[in-house]
Amino acid sequence: MNLQDELAFAESWHNGMLVAAIALITAALIVFLFYQLRVSLIRTYKEKHDFINDQEIKWLKRVFVLLGIAAACGINLYGQDEIGGPGVSFFVRLFFSIAGATLVIYISALVLQYYYPTRLNKKLRKLRYTPRTSSTGSKMKLLSEDEEDVHLNEGMQAEENIFSIDYDVWIDEKSGEIRIEKYQGHLISLQCNNCGFYTMRVQREEIIEKNEDGSPRELLKHYQCTYCKNVRATQFSINRKEADDYKHVKPKYRKGTRNIEVIKIEVVSSLGGKKSFEFQSVEEAQKFLNEFDFDKVA
Ligand SMILES: [Zn+2]
Repeated sequence: MNLQDELAFAESWHNGMLVAAIALITAALIVFLFYQLRVSLIRTYKEKHDFINDQEIKWLKRVFVLLGIAAACGINLYGQDEIGGPGVSFFVRLFFSIAGATLVIYISALVLQYYYPTRLNKKLRKLRYTPRTSSTGSKMKLLSEDEEDVHLNEGMQAEENIFSIDYDVWIDEKSGEIRIEKYQGHLISLQCNNCGFYTMRVQREEIIEKNEDGSPRELLKHYQCTYCKNVRATQFSINRKEADDYKHVKPKYRKGTRNIEVIKIEVVSSLGGKKSFEFQSVEEAQKFLNEFDFDKVA
């Protein structure tokens, strides 16, 4: 390559990189806005919750991949007058641009995987527990179904492949209108007691006790934190009521306890023994305390 060719190559390379960087940043912005638009077009809180729970991290990852590649193009513009056409420093810079893109994409993926779910969870809880509006326009109330009760997904009651579901039942006190929302228990992230991130998800579930007729009664959920690998197992009783049965349930409202994630009770004996217990609801903890006998559990 003679000098003139080299200069022409360098110029078109740098122009191309500039155009690509601008195009990629624009594309990232469009992808981000497109996602926001899709979310804003969803009408109900429940559908919004499910869509965000399933999609938000995926879409943000796309945005950061585009930004990472844009960063690579930007790095290729560094010192363009000195570096010029294809020489050693040209390839060194090319290498650094690829490393830069990898870094941006890798770090954002880590943030989205471990830090971001905590923020996402706040958003999701807000969507799940914002009072619904009934068809007559009045505010609905959330029924206090005991939180430890779970239901098994229809058709998935084979032992290896159970997925529990939670029902939220909303009632309009004036008209008696009832709305039932179904949440997939294994898709909801809980806060890890060890690292504090919202990265704890159900790994597997097993039926540990059955009724006389063979239907499941107690379910053990095994959780694992995807960040620190901490594990937790919690027992739930299985409610045999189906969604429609809630229409006949006597309203029993939740007090201000719906945001309780876990209740920990630590019992210290004067003999030096110590035991700790975890519960999902105030009712469960109360029941435990009423029946508590240190000798039995020690
Ligand atoms: Zn953890």
